[in-house]
Amino acid sequence: MKIAIDGPGGAGKSTLSKKLAKHFNLVYIDTGAMYRAAGLACVRQGITIKEQPEEAIQIVNASEIDLIPDEAGQKIMLNGEDVTGLIRTPEISMAASDVSAIPEVRIRLVEMQRKLAETRDVIMDGRDIGTYVLPDAPIKIFLTASSEERAKRRYLELKQRGENCEFDAVLAELLVRDKNDSTRAFSPLKQAEDSILVDTSELNFDESLAYLTKIIEERL
Ligand code: C5P
Repeated sequence: MKIAIDGPGGAGKSTLSKKLAKHFNLVYIDTGAMYRAAGLACVRQGITIKEQPEEAIQIVNASEIDLIPDEAGQKIMLNGEDVTGLIRTPEISMAASDVSAIPEVRIRLVEMQRKLAETRDVIMDGRDIGTYVLPDAPIKIFLTASSEERAKRRYLELKQRGENCEFDAVLAELLVRDKNDSTRAFSPLKQAEDSILVDTSELNFDESLAYLTKIIEERL
């Protein structure tokens, strides 16, 4: 069983995928965390990814990035260090988006993602899972919501974690990432032709979860 969940940031992919993984007894794989770890590696080396793509490739190639699925969801390791708690900041979100536009970086991470899915039943979330990583996945969902709604959810999430942020800045960052992700040349964010479009703008979390559960059950 392979389920691909794609869509822009803040659409609820990861929280919903985690719940669906439990319900359907699947391993949850958050591919965004890998790009975030790659972004963190570059930020730690002090480079500007957009201006120094060659350096970014070298840094990512020299980094060991491991995603370890576990009870709580997953752990993301960078060179043996657990960086799960360090990758959800606005700075690392942008770094992830920048580094993910580099084809050499994507090819390396996609290879890891396919390996993770080879021997497991997975629900994998990202931007290009249905179009590129697992094009044969029998269930593909493209999850979206209005940009205002997505920014609101991201803002509340950051606030809950005690981060100091402004709504307008969160919205602006989300829009930049949307544009970056959907206009990059290699494997951009786009809905797979055979995926089911789910817009959660008008749905709360429980309603979204119930809707997705029904869609998946109907196709099992
Ligand atoms: O999903 P998340 O917001 O954690 O992803 C962070 C960034 O990683 C995205 O903005 C996107 O640029 C990149 N990404 C990607 N392809 C994926 C998953 C994430 O390009 N499959």
